[in-house]
Amino acid sequence: MKRERTALELSKTFDPKSAEERWFQLWIDRGYFTADPAKPGKVFSIVIPPPNVTGQLHLGHALNVTLHDVIVRTRRMQGYNTLWLPGTDHAGIATQNVVERELAKEGKTRHDLGREQFVARVWQWRELYGGKILHQLRRLGASCDWSRERFTLDEGLSRAVTKVFVMLHDQDLIYRGHRMINWCPRCETALSDLEVEHKESQGSLWYIRYPFAEDSGWMTVATTRPETMLGDTAVAVNMDDDRYRSLIGRKLRLPLVDRIIPIVGYEGVDRNFGTGALKITPAHDPFDLIVGQIFKLDAISVIDKQGKMSSEAGAYASLTREAARKKIIEDLEALGLVEKIEPHKHALSVCSRCDTPVEPMISDQWFMRMREMAAAAARAVHEGDTEFHPKRWENTFFNWLSDIQDWCISRQLWWGHRIPAYWCTSCEGEPIVAEERPAACPRCGSDALRQDEDVLDTWFSSGLWPFSTLGWPEQTADLQRYYPTSLLLTGFDIIFFWVARMMMFGLKINPNGAEAMAEQVPFRDVYITPLVRDQFGKKMTKSRGNVVDPLEIMERFGTDAVRFTLAQLSVQGRDLILSDDRLAASRAFANKIWNAARFVLMNLEGAPQPLAPVVTAQLGLAERWILSRLDKAIREVSKAIDEYRFNDAALIVYQFVWHEFCDWYIELSKEPLKAGGERQAAARYVLVTCFDRMLRILHPFMPFISEELWQAIRPYLSDTSLTEHLAVAKWPAAAEADWIAEVEALAMDRCIATTEAINSLRSLAGHHPGQRVTAVIRPRVELDHDGLDDWRNYAITLGKVAELKILAASDGRPTGTVFAPMAWAEIGVVTPEGFDFEKARGLIRKKLDEVETHLKRNQERFENPGFRAKADAETIAEIEQKIEELKVQKKTLEAQLEQLQ
Ligand SMILES: [Zn+2]
Ligand SMILES: [Zn+2]
Repeated sequence: MKRERTALELSKTFDPKSAEERWFQLWIDRGYFTADPAKPGKVFSIVIPPPNVTGQLHLGHALNVTLHDVIVRTRRMQGYNTLWLPGTDHAGIATQNVVERELAKEGKTRHDLGREQFVARVWQWRELYGGKILHQLRRLGASCDWSRERFTLDEGLSRAVTKVFVMLHDQDLIYRGHRMINWCPRCETALSDLEVEHKESQGSLWYIRYPFAEDSGWMTVATTRPETMLGDTAVAVNMDDDRYRSLIGRKLRLPLVDRIIPIVGYEGVDRNFGTGALKITPAHDPFDLIVGQIFKLDAISVIDKQGKMSSEAGAYASLTREAARKKIIEDLEALGLVEKIEPHKHALSVCSRCDTPVEPMISDQWFMRMREMAAAAARAVHEGDTEFHPKRWENTFFNWLSDIQDWCISRQLWWGHRIPAYWCTSCEGEPIVAEERPAACPRCGSDALRQDEDVLDTWFSSGLWPFSTLGWPEQTADLQRYYPTSLLLTGFDIIFFWVARMMMFGLKINPNGAEAMAEQVPFRDVYITPLVRDQFGKKMTKSRGNVVDPLEIMERFGTDAVRFTLAQLSVQGRDLILSDDRLAASRAFANKIWNAARFVLMNLEGAPQPLAPVVTAQLGLAERWILSRLDKAIREVSKAIDEYRFNDAALIVYQFVWHEFCDWYIELSKEPLKAGGERQAAARYVLVTCFDRMLRILHPFMPFISEELWQAIRPYLSDTSLTEHLAVAKWPAAAEADWIAEVEALAMDRCIATTEAINSLRSLAGHHPGQRVTAVIRPRVELDHDGLDDWRNYAITLGKVAELKILAASDGRPTGTVFAPMAWAEIGVVTPEGFDFEKARGLIRKKLDEVETHLKRNQERFENPGFRAKADAETIAEIEQKIEELKVQKKTLEAQLEQLQ
């Protein structure tokens, strides 16, 4: 490739957009992200949590992909054989809903098309729009192996799904059951418990009188769902309830239906709910079903699969649930059977996909036995084969697993993996479960076989994702080399849906035939990403209108700045508070690096390409100091990334680049750069060396700007094994021996402290900001002048000092000087002629008074219980922060008063 720019052509400012497009395409074209199982090296492999094929990039994805990319790029540079496998999920209900809505615009339903045509239509939709989310992930710089992209419904993954279904069915872990499940009347499918949301809802409690069958009088039952009364087959009371004990065994006449139903006694009835007498509808409530089974009651289904009243509902048949409720209450009121109606808050169960109230329904479905598989998953985590970060999520994981119900895996949808079970229409026995459609019924020889209409829950296929994507059931080279994976990085909201199920499937299937339990977990580590909140700490929701679109902030701040911000804010176990201020700060950081690069390149004019290596003896204290700080940063960043402390890693890079390299070393290098000769050569060498390594540790966070700048300094690097691009460059290693002796490190600390003191005293002493001053060091004990000579010139340059006077420890404090105290010395700046100390102190005192008044007022407000009761959490936090700031100001002013004595 032709080199893009020469050093001197680096533009004035960074243009994120052009860099992002240019470098990403080049990395892909070069195959830098393509994994090769034949290559040597320790493995680092990870599979992406497959976004829904209907997905639109949101901040959760952006955070997830950023953190993935930080660790994947680091491992790649560290020489691991790295695989990051991308793909999408077919998202059964969600995708079917999208296409059904499209059809509705044409006035059609899926039934008008028929199954085959409808599924073809969904595939068509997927071809057109399904790749969108993956394109958005690319824009974030995701260094996935895009040549290995998978889809949960592709041929290979479908084969894996069928095989697992048959295997588990053969082991009696998958079975067909007649059970109460959650039914969504809008989606017209069964749902698993996890797909049902419980929403607090304001409803009513209707008190309805059920007359005795033989005598006069009645019993009053209370219900939140009067329409189900048409299916009542008993009324239950607690047998310890004195009000009702004597009534057990008597009969009631169910109003509107005229069915005679018994009063039964059951210990599970809550005496405190309503009247303590509970109507029992076994077909439409899980608790009632249990009571029904104990007392052998009929389960009469009065609501059908579309949420309408069934033929069993008599006069109310074909009404919707809502219309039937209204009419039933009217009819009961006409009969004088409604005693009262009370407002009542209760948890309404709704479909997580479409918000429709779900209907508990008894139905024939496929289930998976979970107990044994769940125990294995829990054991693997207990034994440390898989570890969660932060660790506290392990408890969430254990709680769910210990209390797990069998999983309803069949869905009455058309878009998904069709269940490999075949029903014989001639002999009508149990279905034949097989990987391939059997030619004939093994029982009667008939070839009239019908495949089960249902498809599998989407999470069934995503549960196989870590190994199905690597080619299982074939023992492919990928599977052998990259399974088990190293890490799973995902959001807490799918720990049950996905993480737990991958653990269960992985342990059960044992995809690469490992012998030891430790070999079978699908991933070693699980990192749970923080929840992203807005600048006020509020959850981002559509209804609040505070949702941040990642594409929009990438446009405004540049992708590097967005990535850096997300990583920097990812503290384990804490929510992530995103604000424009933080994004702007990251953009400023990118600009700082850009300007530093311009400085370095400007000072390389005329330098040889590559630079001649420099021996340690040629390096001055400042050079050796910055190299030692860089090594420290490299060591700490590597460790932080290993421990998934993304925030610490980002902060270390930031501190080094901004404060140590830009604020100090660049300033310190100016003098030797001007001096020419060996000293200039040494400074150039160190600037380039630092910049190179600094870009390497920055690269995982800010891949685009780092690559762009690295290309500019690359010609000056003398490393013979240099790669062409930073994306595949080596992760830097810290030097074995330290660059700097302990006394020298101490000297540099003193130099920095002295310079900072001089700069802050300059304005206090009434000098102009750029004014060269006379500075004084008054040591507490006699100074070692050799050590001092090493750094006094740095302090003179950076502190803009005209003359630096070093006093003896025994000398008195000179007058006309302001002083700042240090542990080892007092640093002073001589005031200008005629400086009025009294006036200066007066000004400071006035400021101090203002700050103290302000502080007092805020503290009183903060401590006032009346105020605290009314203010929201954000206001209180704001005041608390203000108090902290004022305290710091107060301390600074007090110190300045001291310095003016
Ligand atoms: Zn639904
Ligand atoms: Zn048959």
